[in-house]
Amino acid sequence: MGLYDRFTHLAHERKQLQVSGINPFGTCIDDIYSATEGRIGTQKVILAGTNNYLGLTFNALAIAQGQAALASQGTGTTGSRMANGSYGPHLALEREIAEFFGRSTAIVFSTGYTANLGIISTLATRGSVVLLDADSHASIYDACALGGAEIIRFRHNDAKDLERRMVRLGERARDAIIIVEGIYSMLGDVAPLAEIVDIKRRLGGYLIVDEAHSFGVMGPTGRGLAEAVGVEQDVDIIVGTFSKSLASIGGFAVGFDDMDVLRYASRPYIFTASPSPSSIASVRSSLGTIAQHPELREKLWRNAHLLYQGLSALGFTLGPNISPVVPVMIGTKEEGLMFWRQLISLGVYVNLVLPPAAPSGMTLLRCSVNAEHTEAQINSIIQAFSALRK
Ligand code: PMP
Repeated sequence: MGLYDRFTHLAHERKQLQVSGINPFGTCIDDIYSATEGRIGTQKVILAGTNNYLGLTFNALAIAQGQAALASQGTGTTGSRMANGSYGPHLALEREIAEFFGRSTAIVFSTGYTANLGIISTLATRGSVVLLDADSHASIYDACALGGAEIIRFRHNDAKDLERRMVRLGERARDAIIIVEGIYSMLGDVAPLAEIVDIKRRLGGYLIVDEAHSFGVMGPTGRGLAEAVGVEQDVDIIVGTFSKSLASIGGFAVGFDDMDVLRYASRPYIFTASPSPSSIASVRSSLGTIAQHPELREKLWRNAHLLYQGLSALGFTLGPNISPVVPVMIGTKEEGLMFWRQLISLGVYVNLVLPPAAPSGMTLLRCSVNAEHTEAQINSIIQAFSALRK
């Protein structure tokens, strides 16, 4: 058997996609002009399929700080923090994240994926039970697989189902780890965190919330869903990423005092290179921007309302909540692909999401807004969708 024989079907499917037009799973954005505009081939597009929620990728201060770090500390750290040492700014960023959350401990990871891997696989090992929302991100599933924990999935956003499964665990529920997300990346809905916390208070267990898509987006100061709901003290660990609102690359976890010990046991922390100085510097800058400019979050939500209401008025079926992630449900895969390409030709780039990446066998045109989109751009996105209707 050839090395790649198992993938023949996949290769064929992807080739077919390319023959019929731009491949939605290998799109090259040839130029990035700003947080909201780019070029695909000869077509200028509004970028409405990113996770750049606060639009900070072109923030002048973040770029300047990143450039300064590049010049003064070099292009990369070339090693892991455990073996090769941390740079001062790694530690400074950890202090700043901990302070931002009002907690004692934060650990920086090289991506959000490795943050989940690093925290979950270290805590949830053979013999542990993890209760997972069925729509959890791949990094959460992979983390459980790496750690070897027993996984119990509960129905997406269904606290009653979680409770039934916790009750069935009996005494083991006391040590179980419950993992949910803030905003779910595909449907833009949020975990019923108040109900989940109530279950945890009654039945025990530990709670980890992945705020990848809700950090900077929700809560009075941008700390995420747990802050918005007022239950931060009940969340043992918050995991997040630098690749969305913080507009860079890397990840983090914040916890109470004892969490710091995970550094010495977490393979995904120990055995990978630390984030480069320019990434760390731009994240530190953007964290400061998030703290100082709550109006960015207000603008983001204004844009989310505008897009949601505009698309809803056109008769499209959307996600259950108004959110910066606005998924448009499409009938079939083929229709989804056709609409996705039409949108590009109309100057709008969104994400085509097919099952299994989209939950429950759905095909989605996943739109996302950011704080930098102008009202005119949001209207252009709505107009492009309106043209699909004709
Ligand atoms: N958690 C969730 C919920 C995510 O959506 C993602 C990425 N989309 C990650 C973790 C991984 O983050 P990163 O891209 O920084 O690796």
